[in-house]
Amino acid sequence: MPKVKLDEKNIRHCRCPQCPVQKNSACSAQKLADMKATANPETLPRENVPVVYCSVGKATCSDLDSQQACMCPTCLVWDEHDLQSMYYCTRGSADKIK
Ligand code: SF4
Ligand code: SF4
Repeated sequence: MPKVKLDEKNIRHCRCPQCPVQKNSACSAQKLADMKATANPETLPRENVPVVYCSVGKATCSDLDSQQACMCPTCLVWDEHDLQSMYYCTRGSADKIK
């Protein structure tokens, strides 16, 4: 699978902020708030980026609920990169997993 870039466009299209898997994560909510307050989120350390997990790899927050449905198949980034997998936040980046 191709390496997905962490850039402004992919951050904008990513569905992770709306995803039920991290909706009730206090840790992710804090990281999302911090990211929104940052002018260039793509320059943040990857462990502080709670979106585009297909690029940045596993979430560093431990309170995600992977029993909920992953929204990746509804995402433009997923379509554009011909991604096949889901749950990158718990499994790792698209170039590292099947
Ligand atoms: S990678 Fe999938 S499961 Fe994880 S937060 Fe994003 S949309 Fe949800
Ligand atoms: S494919 Fe999933 S992890 Fe990647 S940008 Fe879209 S919603 Fe986010």
